[in-house]
Amino acid sequence: MATLKDFRNNVKPNWCPGCGDFSVQASIQRAAVNLGLEPEQLAVISGIGCSGRISGYINAYGLHGVHGRALPIAQGLKMANRELTVIASGGDGDGFAIGMGHTVHAIRRNIDITYIVMDNQIYGLTKGQTSPRSGEGFKTKSTPSGSIETPLAPLEMALAVGATFVAQAFSSNVKQLTSIIEAAVQHKGFSMVNVFSPCVTFNKVNTYDWFREHVTDLDETPGYDSSNRMAAMSKLMETSGLITGIIYQDTSRKSYEDLVPGFKAEGLANQDIKISKEDFEKL
Ligand code: SF4
Ligand code: MG
Repeated sequence: MATLKDFRNNVKPNWCPGCGDFSVQASIQRAAVNLGLEPEQLAVISGIGCSGRISGYINAYGLHGVHGRALPIAQGLKMANRELTVIASGGDGDGFAIGMGHTVHAIRRNIDITYIVMDNQIYGLTKGQTSPRSGEGFKTKSTPSGSIETPLAPLEMALAVGATFVAQAFSSNVKQLTSIIEAAVQHKGFSMVNVFSPCVTFNKVNTYDWFREHVTDLDETPGYDSSNRMAAMSKLMETSGLITGIIYQDTSRKSYEDLVPGFKAEGLANQDIKISKEDFEKL
């Protein structure tokens, strides 16, 4: 049985001290152990950005892809080897700007992978420009007078395009983040996990203290029903998305690969891929 040590390698992260991404890395490693995975049963596929380095810091299969393209790689990998636990990860710029087309279609396709977005409301790797998640009035090198665009609401977007698992976490709450990653991996379908992961170097607005002050934890909200899509959307809109926990989960829908008989028993190799008329009508 693998331990945390098995998921560690000797590559020293070059994230800034205090960067939220450290906790995301630690939580993925802890979740993998808790799920009883071995390193060779996990693949972490990342895009470009500070967060994209994560695939190099975990001892598992990994690929540091190109900008905004973690999801196509991760989906292809899962379809080719459906026994593998596949985690795609990247930043808000990676997933919600250049990669947004992939994000929307991966969500509605519902392939059984987990997508973890390290959302710091800025482009960190390129030293601080406005991202799709930056708030109105946010001043950066690319918006010296303040951003005039509406920030993207990623989880409302995910719900709108048919997500079957929607959760949000804060990197300072490693316990909750770890349990959310575990639940996301266990969910049979596409799991969307947005993580408030502060950029301590370039984002001086959305800091750890700012999130502590503004975020409500659904785990401390009695009576919240995460199976109710309408309630999930209302909760996100009421709180401007500043909630953590499992916001929505639909366990009734089959994952993409379960609807394609050719992928059921084995991977792509030597498969004569045919969709029966009955299964086609369910798509
Ligand atoms: Fe993290 Fe920001 Fe430093 Fe990048 S620049 S490593 S996002 S703190
Ligand atoms: Mg970012």
